[in-house]
Amino acid sequence: MHTAKKWLIEEQAKTAVTNLKRRGYDDAVYVSSAPEACERVVQALEPGQIVGTGGSITLNETGILNAIRSHDYTLIDPDASGLLSEEAWELRKEALRKSDVFITSVNALTLDGKMVSIDGAGNRIASMLYGGPDKVIVVCGTNKIVSDVQQALWRVHHVAAVCNARRFDLKLPCTEGSRAPECIDCWDVERHCRAVLILEKQPMRKEYLVIIIGEDYGF
Ligand code: SF4
Repeated sequence: MHTAKKWLIEEQAKTAVTNLKRRGYDDAVYVSSAPEACERVVQALEPGQIVGTGGSITLNETGILNAIRSHDYTLIDPDASGLLSEEAWELRKEALRKSDVFITSVNALTLDGKMVSIDGAGNRIASMLYGGPDKVIVVCGTNKIVSDVQQALWRVHHVAAVCNARRFDLKLPCTEGSRAPECIDCWDVERHCRAVLILEKQPMRKEYLVIIIGEDYGF
């Protein structure tokens, strides 16, 4: 990566971290690489804890899920059981109800520190709010940083939701036909993107660790 681009990415990430802190996320940090992020995650967990996730390319690509698996934690990972199997649905509930810590990415982060996520069943975004695990770890690549909520909403639909539809080989207007890969806010009964969460400040009564990595991960 050219040094000028690296500088830009780092400055944007640091701006986002500063603003996350202003929004109540005292434990918001910038790291330059995935191994550093893995180290931060492992440091934040206690032996024996149950760690839930909702399925995340970022957590796979960074090696964070493997790092969790290789330590003394119990990982609840619904994606490992196939997207729509009954077992996966049960594991999503377990990750929400039984985890000590929920680990996830978000689909967009604004420069002024708002995090935006899109979900199908809502298990992932519910886990980030009151009633889910007491602690949440968010890991986000700098490719998801956008200027404002309007851009974030565009990104979660036109990038994250479309890529997820493609990832799971879903037959939808954004994955096949004349409009693909555009998101047309469809009425398809199989539509997988059904709920959007905008975190404007750290949710009350939740502990958050937010790790921004200066590289591209997930979508
Ligand atoms: S709303 Fe429809 S077209 Fe848009 S991403 Fe979701 S499934 Fe695809």
